[in-house]
Amino acid sequence: MDGTLLEKMRTELRGPVIGPDDEEYGRARTVYNAMIDKKPAAVVECRDTADVMAAVDFLRENGLEPAVRGGGHSGPGLGLRDGAVTLDLSPLHGVRVDPATQTAQADGGATLGDLDHATHAFGLATPAGIMSTTGVGGLTLGGGHGYLTRKYGLSVDNLVSADVVLADGSFVAANPSEHADLFWALRGGGGNFGVVTSFDFELHPVDTVGVAITVWPLELFQDVMRWYRDFLPQAPADLYGFFASLTVPPG
Ligand SMILES: Cc1cc2nc3c(=O)[nH]c(=O)nc-3n(C[C@H](O)[C@H](O)[C@H](O)COP(=O)(O)OP(=O)(O)OC[C@H]3O[C@@H](n4cnc5c(N)ncnc54)[C@H](O)[C@@H]3O)c2cc1C
Repeated sequence: MDGTLLEKMRTELRGPVIGPDDEEYGRARTVYNAMIDKKPAAVVECRDTADVMAAVDFLRENGLEPAVRGGGHSGPGLGLRDGAVTLDLSPLHGVRVDPATQTAQADGGATLGDLDHATHAFGLATPAGIMSTTGVGGLTLGGGHGYLTRKYGLSVDNLVSADVVLADGSFVAANPSEHADLFWALRGGGGNFGVVTSFDFELHPVDTVGVAITVWPLELFQDVMRWYRDFLPQAPADLYGFFASLTVPPG
């Protein structure tokens, strides 16, 4: 991406456009998985939906490739692509809770920590993942499971509506009565259908979640898995569990 194009893009957006020669470039291309070392042409820190629309238009009109980053937790680092322009949604992380309808609207770059923090104040929650720094965006678009899933379903089961910027730069609401096919695709189809600038979720009364970890040596892995397989289906839906195989320490 030549310098003139970078400069032109800067004039059309409110958020900073960070290129390879900028001091901030190293920070801007960092994702959760430290094994990822991709070099985007630029990273755009989107400040609002207008920035997302302007960026999508600019990339399309100038034949540039996009990548979208929410929380940056994707294992293969899908929020970055070599030579593409990353639309970084992390500045868009507000959450608005409506206690009357028991719903929450989370911006496209919100993290699970942002979502839980906002809903917990009202004694409410929606199923999401186990780590506060994971993005609502990538997690929800991929399905989303966590502590509340056995009782209240996946994150996508609780998705009521989504605001989406499409590849032609247009803005649509996707829900069961508007753009229902897009809504269907968003609920598990990953980040391939547009840039989601906000997610509306149904909330449920949740007070406190208790967490415990049991650690077993690797030789018992099969026994513990078999026990878990038989135990969990008949356990109350309040109970959730998952496996991780870790090297300890540091795990
Ligand atoms: C430590 C850790 C713990 C995890 N725990 C859980 C868990 O408990 N439950 C669970 O279900 N998953 C879990 N995951 C997996 C996680 O949900 C996925 O990696 C998910 O893609 C991360 O989303 P992100 O927004 O942080 O990632 P990103 O890397 O930012 O994005 C991942 C993909 O989603 C797209 N995307 C993100 N936001 C948007 C948006 N607003 N609009 C359009 N596309 C978007 C990106 O383009 C990219 O393709 C975990 C991952 C890690 C690393």
